[in-house]
Amino acid sequence: MTPSIPILPTTSVGSFPKPDYLKRARAQASRGEIKEKKLRELEERATREWIHFQEEIGIDILVDGEMYRGDMVTYFAETLKGFEISGLVRSYGNRYYRKPVVVDEIARAKPITVEWYQFAQGLTKRPVKGMLTGPYTIMDWSFNEHYKDRRAFTLALAEAIHEEAADLEKAGARFIQIDEPAVSVRPEELPLAVEAMGIVTRGLKAKTLTHICYGDFEKIYPGMLAIPVDQIDLEISNSTQDLLEIFRKSPFTKEIGLGVVDVHSHRLETKDEVKGRIEKALKVFRPEQIYVDPDCGLKTREVEEAKAKLRVIVEAAKEVRKGLVPLAR
Ligand SMILES: [Zn+2]
Repeated sequence: MTPSIPILPTTSVGSFPKPDYLKRARAQASRGEIKEKKLRELEERATREWIHFQEEIGIDILVDGEMYRGDMVTYFAETLKGFEISGLVRSYGNRYYRKPVVVDEIARAKPITVEWYQFAQGLTKRPVKGMLTGPYTIMDWSFNEHYKDRRAFTLALAEAIHEEAADLEKAGARFIQIDEPAVSVRPEELPLAVEAMGIVTRGLKAKTLTHICYGDFEKIYPGMLAIPVDQIDLEISNSTQDLLEIFRKSPFTKEIGLGVVDVHSHRLETKDEVKGRIEKALKVFRPEQIYVDPDCGLKTREVEEAKAKLRVIVEAAKEVRKGLVPLAR
């Protein structure tokens, strides 16, 4: 039987840490020491382990954990036609990565994420989210050597990501998340991100949501409510109070993915802390507006840290839910 989705559903933003055996295998594969097929088997094993873990602790809406991805932008650019991948570029201090370069018309030659979605969904009766990177973010994190401007580049990407979203929906995805972590960085380009998302979500019946990483939310609020999705997921565990003040002034008209644990910190939040964050949010949002999750992807944490943070979220949400039952009657 498919478990029904309760009020204050728990979920995750996307990535989970890769287990050590998979990190080793990825390094070996990049040096040509093991075959693609072997790597794929280990990616499947890790995905299976994460799906089972989420079911076991009682998360309501699952993610596949992105065991097969390196970078969230490069992963898409590698499969889309029109891109080449640059040599190593330095970003965020000492992190180096390969940056996509658009050199020709963008086209989606084949589905990018559908096969992994089907694999993960095949392991569970609970819904698994379809996970895409949004056109604005792919554009912002790539070099443009083909399109006349950022808008033309973004809108071409939006059509390709729309095709992918439509295929995920056809494959059965009830939730489709289109991540736009870059949106909070340049408020002046918010209208472009809104326009592009309108193309991505055009005609979809699945619930659509977007994740935006921490930035200057005050500068893009309430403008970001124009992003044509059902839900906006925000990294706000450390700033719940201030943001709630902003939302009080100008009501949040969509569902909210409420980040309640800090993904950048080793420190494990207590159940009471997380409960407190959910309860604070309940002063501004209706219960049926709130989905509870970590601030962002958990891939930078150790496996055990990530699991502990997810357990605290589930336990806290369960207890807050109990307190809501009498109100709902
Ligand atoms: Zn994020």
